[in-house]
Amino acid sequence: MTTALNLLTERFVEEPEDINSQKDYIAYSKYVHDYSPAIKRLLDLSEDYVPGAERAFKEGKPAVWCQANNFVPALLYSLGVTPVAYGEMGRYSVKEDMLIAEDIYQFPVETCSMVKCVVAQWHKRLKTGTINRILGNSSACEPFNLSWEVMRKHGYDVFNNEVIYRGPTVHGERLEQLVKFTMGQILDVAEWLTGTRAVDEEKLRVEIQRKNRLLGKLRQVLELRRTHPYYMKTLAIILTLNIGLNNYFGKPEEYEKAIDALIIELENTPVSEKDLKTVIPLVWAGGTGQEFGIYEAIDQAGGALLGLRSVPFRLYREDVPPLEALARWIYDNSGAGAGVYARNVLDSEVERLKARGVILYGYIGCSFASVDREMWRRYFHEKGLACINLEGSFQTGAPTGQVLTRIKAFVEMLAA
Ligand code: SF4
Repeated sequence: MTTALNLLTERFVEEPEDINSQKDYIAYSKYVHDYSPAIKRLLDLSEDYVPGAERAFKEGKPAVWCQANNFVPALLYSLGVTPVAYGEMGRYSVKEDMLIAEDIYQFPVETCSMVKCVVAQWHKRLKTGTINRILGNSSACEPFNLSWEVMRKHGYDVFNNEVIYRGPTVHGERLEQLVKFTMGQILDVAEWLTGTRAVDEEKLRVEIQRKNRLLGKLRQVLELRRTHPYYMKTLAIILTLNIGLNNYFGKPEEYEKAIDALIIELENTPVSEKDLKTVIPLVWAGGTGQEFGIYEAIDQAGGALLGLRSVPFRLYREDVPPLEALARWIYDNSGAGAGVYARNVLDSEVERLKARGVILYGYIGCSFASVDREMWRRYFHEKGLACINLEGSFQTGAPTGQVLTRIKAFVEMLAA
């Protein structure tokens, strides 16, 4: 049966440049993945992440706005609270949201669009009976620190944990002190959420085991994508890895079922020798945000995003108590601060995938991440690897023509 949605997406197949809303990109992505029930299910889960959590909250299920990565999802799920990634609200932002942040909350015009989008979305939700707690994270950045302080003044219940940072030379006793400090921070969050400064170690263990299981399964997906580079296109893999693997879109069991189904699909799909000959393996570093048109441009130009810097690769330790395992994972991973840790992840991805290029992406107005990106760009250029550094914005709408032209030209150059 031809539906209005199919007519719309058929038009987008002809003219993908005409898509300019994030909702339509997801509809289009489902359409082009019509052969894969698993990918369509993952896209459904992504689409319903924020609305689903808000619906459930109104029906009595606790939920908190948070970064929804690092130790937070395992802790929150173990406490029966849904972690809702505030960055995902960017998908619902419109250009006017910038004005809300600037005019009502006095954010300077040059503030990063991600922060302004999130602030405006929280503003629009004031007194609507939806999720009213924010778990901040001082390791994020100054504009975000400011955002939750502002929201506290306007009625949200805000808790902000301390900066988590491990310098490149921190080992031994100093590292042990940091681990202890972070365990205390995790207990502080638990106290804010439940009124008791304790965690249920058994429930936390179940969450750590889930996370480790899923890390293994997603590694399997990434390996299978090396021989099936075009089966799962860029938008779908970015949402599945960067959002889904962190917080399971608020529905852990359903996410895992969809991943299991995806593995079966990939294993049962014949390898195309032609695809393997023509594929241009790429690694992505930096933010991923809401400019879904960039991912489509990569697909259109024949690129295959096979590696992502923000994918957590290390397993949580299961040989130490669960609370300690959470703290240790942070310091063993790339999320603990110094840009050199993230660069090491990028480097090993480039080697593993024999990548032909690295795409660095960030948001206009972000002075923090732009320093890392510039260091990485220089490093890869010195190694002789093609690297492009892009800046985009966070609110909805199509990316600028300039960004799209640059990304297409970059991938086409690698193909040539
Ligand atoms: S892009 Fe930069 S300024 Fe914006 S939220 Fe992220 S770290 Fe902060």
